[in-house]
Amino acid sequence: MTTHRLKDLIRITSCFLALTLCLWGLPTAASAAPVIRTPHWGSWQTRTITYHYPGKSTYYRSIWRQAATQWNRTGAIRLKRVQRARHADVVVKTANVGMTYSGRTHYRYRPQKNGHVIVAAKATLNHKVLSTYRYTKQQRINVAAHEIGHAIGLGHSKCPKSVMHATNRHARVNRQDRLALKRAYKSQGS
Ligand SMILES: [Zn+2]
Repeated sequence: MTTHRLKDLIRITSCFLALTLCLWGLPTAASAAPVIRTPHWGSWQTRTITYHYPGKSTYYRSIWRQAATQWNRTGAIRLKRVQRARHADVVVKTANVGMTYSGRTHYRYRPQKNGHVIVAAKATLNHKVLSTYRYTKQQRINVAAHEIGHAIGLGHSKCPKSVMHATNRHARVNRQDRLALKRAYKSQGS
């Protein structure tokens, strides 16, 4: 993780992906659905963002890798896995932490008028909730993609088909998520 110590400028924020029951079955309009944009609140200074998974589980390493791939397919950024935590911008992990949330992300950023600058992030999947509620592997990947979405600067979408919906379990990165990331990183170098 980046170890900047910008005490006065950095704010620490976290986001909890709420433990959720399935919203997927709610009726939605079949056509002419309004476009619900995914919000963004910040970005890293470059489009290449490194991440590190310190755990030993090949299953969860694969989950984080496939979640990163969802974002890499947008073409807006590149998440690159590194072997050492001290070389990583984002640390991703899995833990057993009670039953209140399926995933959580902490981040530190420098407040800026035109989009905050993220300087560190830590995303956690809560294995206890994921296993108790029998999340499939794909659903765990979707939760991991949601948490990475926060770690790279996106906020919650009101669209149930966005990976950034606050109670997401079923949705993958969609077009609005991709467009939000492109907006967030349009002026960054590689
Ligand atoms: Zn969230």
